[in-house]
Amino acid sequence: MSCSNCKNKFREVEKQTEGVLKKGIGMVQSYASALASRGFNNKKVAEPTKQLRVLSCFGNQHLNGELPPCQHLQQSKTPGKHYCGGCGCGDRDATWLIAEPEKYSKLDHPSLACPLMMPGFTNYKASEPDESEQPITRKYYIENIDYKEIRKIKVSIPEAKTKDT
Ligand code: SF4
Repeated sequence: MSCSNCKNKFREVEKQTEGVLKKGIGMVQSYASALASRGFNNKKVAEPTKQLRVLSCFGNQHLNGELPPCQHLQQSKTPGKHYCGGCGCGDRDATWLIAEPEKYSKLDHPSLACPLMMPGFTNYKASEPDESEQPITRKYYIENIDYKEIRKIKVSIPEAKTKDT
């Protein structure tokens, strides 16, 4: 669903990884850390955090909200799946942000970095004061959204299993 006024309401932002990359910790390495955080028992993130991540990546226009998807959200070659084009992890089932409900998806990792340091991710960094100026950033919008709107987002958190799902 699209919103005709939303295009001008939100501004795109630069990736915020440069400082991190200079220290030798790239997004691919961050993803490796995310995999490690899964542990032997397929530990998963808490539901409200996953809802926040889904909002950061997918926006809420599908719920009649006004937040568009992230500028880095990419459609997979596999219909119905999406991956983050900002982190360099590519398009494969392990990098799909949301997989089948019963499967472990990228957004389920307890520790997970986002190139834009968006809400819900482990490396989240609060918006700068100028991000409240028009056009605002998606991050500022999410930081000020009613918590009820976040809880409306449907996510699945399958039971932890000892084998890959
Ligand atoms: S992980 Fe971050 S940069 Fe990537 S699609 Fe989600 S919000 Fe955008």
